[in-house]
Amino acid sequence: MIIAVDGPAGAGKGTIASYLANYYELKHLDTGLLYRAVALKALRENIANDDPVSLVRIALNLDLDQLKDPDLRLESTASMASQIAVLPEVREILTRHMRFFCQHISKPFNGAVLDGRDIGTVVCPDAHLKFFVTARPEIRAQRRLKEMQEHQTQNQQESYLEKINERDQRDRIVAAEDAYTIDTSDMNIKDACEYAGKIVEEYMKNLAA
Ligand code: C5P
Repeated sequence: MIIAVDGPAGAGKGTIASYLANYYELKHLDTGLLYRAVALKALRENIANDDPVSLVRIALNLDLDQLKDPDLRLESTASMASQIAVLPEVREILTRHMRFFCQHISKPFNGAVLDGRDIGTVVCPDAHLKFFVTARPEIRAQRRLKEMQEHQTQNQQESYLEKINERDQRDRIVAAEDAYTIDTSDMNIKDACEYAGKIVEEYMKNLAA
């Protein structure tokens, strides 16, 4: 079973994907980490976001087992990631890595869940189940902020909203037509995970029937 979980930053897609992965024994790939890994290497090597040749080289050499660097989580890495994500050459290579991940599933896993921006539309258009997880930008900015630090100034809060809006504009994410949309703005994350779980449950019941 392949499950696609797409949506903007801070909507809760990663948490929902991890929940489904644990519950249904699925291999999980946070595909944003691939873009972040290319971005981080580029930042460290002083490679500009408009140098496709060097960025493609980094993307080709990416090791999916090496996505644990804590600096991948930095906002500066995220920002660079969304800038290089506009390059079709980079997207194509990272899409290939993602498909390779889906094609190499062995026991004990029953499938894979990938979270990102274009999993249901481009990477795995034939996924068995697709979710589009979203939330209002203000709520997403607040969550991101809480994640990063408990104590920040009003200015920093505003700048988070700005960053979220900037990334939304660049990322221009579209939901797959056959995706289940979950708006987590007024939901706690546990309820959102359980709601997604119910849809998976329903899907499996129909398969067995
Ligand atoms: O999800 P995360 O915030 O880690 O993603 C970082 C950036 O990578 C996003 O802002 C987006 O530009 C890009 N991305 C993408 N397609 C994906 C996953 C991430 O374009 N499937």
